Amino acid sequence: MVTVTSYGAAQTVTGSCHLLKIGSIKILIDCGMFQGNGGEDRNYGPFDFDPSKVNYLILTHAHLDHIGRVPKLVKDGFNGTIIATNATLDIAKIMLLDSASILQEEYKTIRRKARRRGEEKSILEPLYTKEDVKEVFAKTWCTLEYFEEHKLKQHVRVSFGNAGHIMGSAFVMIDYQEENQHKRIVFSGDLGSPERLIIDGPDNIGEADSLFIESTYGDRKHKPLEESIAEFKEVVASTLKHNGSVLIPSFALERTQEILWLLHGMHDNGELPKCRIFLDSPLAIKATKLYNRYPIHLSDELEYSTGSGKDPFSFAWLEPSTTREQSMSINRVKEKCIIIAGSGMCNGGRIMHHLKHRLWNKKNAIVFVGYQVPGTLGRSIVDGEKMIKIYGEDIAVKAKIYTINGFSAHADQSELIGWMRPIEGIKHLCLIHGETEKMEVFADAIKRDLGHESHIMAYGVSVKL
Ligand code: ZN
Repeated sequence: MVTVTSYGAAQTVTGSCHLLKIGSIKILIDCGMFQGNGGEDRNYGPFDFDPSKVNYLILTHAHLDHIGRVPKLVKDGFNGTIIATNATLDIAKIMLLDSASILQEEYKTIRRKARRRGEEKSILEPLYTKEDVKEVFAKTWCTLEYFEEHKLKQHVRVSFGNAGHIMGSAFVMIDYQEENQHKRIVFSGDLGSPERLIIDGPDNIGEADSLFIESTYGDRKHKPLEESIAEFKEVVASTLKHNGSVLIPSFALERTQEILWLLHGMHDNGELPKCRIFLDSPLAIKATKLYNRYPIHLSDELEYSTGSGKDPFSFAWLEPSTTREQSMSINRVKEKCIIIAGSGMCNGGRIMHHLKHRLWNKKNAIVFVGYQVPGTLGRSIVDGEKMIKIYGEDIAVKAKIYTINGFSAHADQSELIGWMRPIEGIKHLCLIHGETEKMEVFADAIKRDLGHESHIMAYGVSVKL
């Protein structure tokens, strides 16, 4: 018998974790962190399955909402094989180490405050430490190229296709025999649009008996990428021409590399007024090095550039800034400049001190290039807040605020349906990784365009395939 149970990303977009049982084999697809809306506490509870009984952990990509609970899974007894693409393995290392140091810092701050209230005993230890992360990479790993097949126990086979979401991202195909018939289950992971800036769009698959598909933007249509690129270039160039500086709060993975590639192009084409450009994020600097390590995962244009000895993400005016001192010294730069720093939603990180120093000046521009979750400082700024607090100080929002949303790493409704259209033989279609209302809209669109009924997965409820 084959069953799938969701232990995360069921009617929500974080905490991805799905347990597949084929006969006696237990395969976990992703083990992500719950994030936002106060859901972080869920990460600390015990797993609702026994990690020591799981034989394989398959990782679709290295975003924390897909890998963030792996160190806890290992701490709680998982001792099987971890299967991922080689790029996902390398990115997972830097992401989990960075996450461990953030958890450690948060723990110290919470403990210090609790001590002052005399409540120290009630404070939970960090979810995991750097030592726990090292344990993850001491486990048996099996890395696969796209469409390379790996045999598990009992003739079950696993392979990946490019999901076009971030570098190394994959959808998972699991092939097995049932009553002498070949069957295939596919987990989409997070799927990108067909048109991406620096990586290729998702691969096609021929057939699937059961499909578990993400629904993040199952209810909407994105702006075309070309429009967003033009808008980005216009905003950056015109701000600099008027002697303003440009602040770009950016995610370390994929979005930063896309922005660097665009600025590199503007620089080479003479579209960029002379200025200093700071990449002020140690994590983004590390991630960018990995993008250069796997040219095979980049789009043809970038792969060609890397192949001819050029670094697509580096050019003369770019100054990577790693140390705290380098970061602080940017505050003393008086001439116009571009600053790319995390976090992407301004809920911490080096972008905070840059906002403090430049948000009040109407010559400057803040360019948001990613989704801002409600409750974050980034969202307040985007929503038109006139005065914000940074490090306890009131800062007036006088800089021009731009939101450019067409760089999304997730396919929209028509792109998701376009990816599903050629797939033959679908008998079970299950929606995961989305908010309930969006999933309902997506289910209706699937019925309308493809004629399939779909099932919205719920936490802890198993479906039989
Ligand atoms: Zn993702």
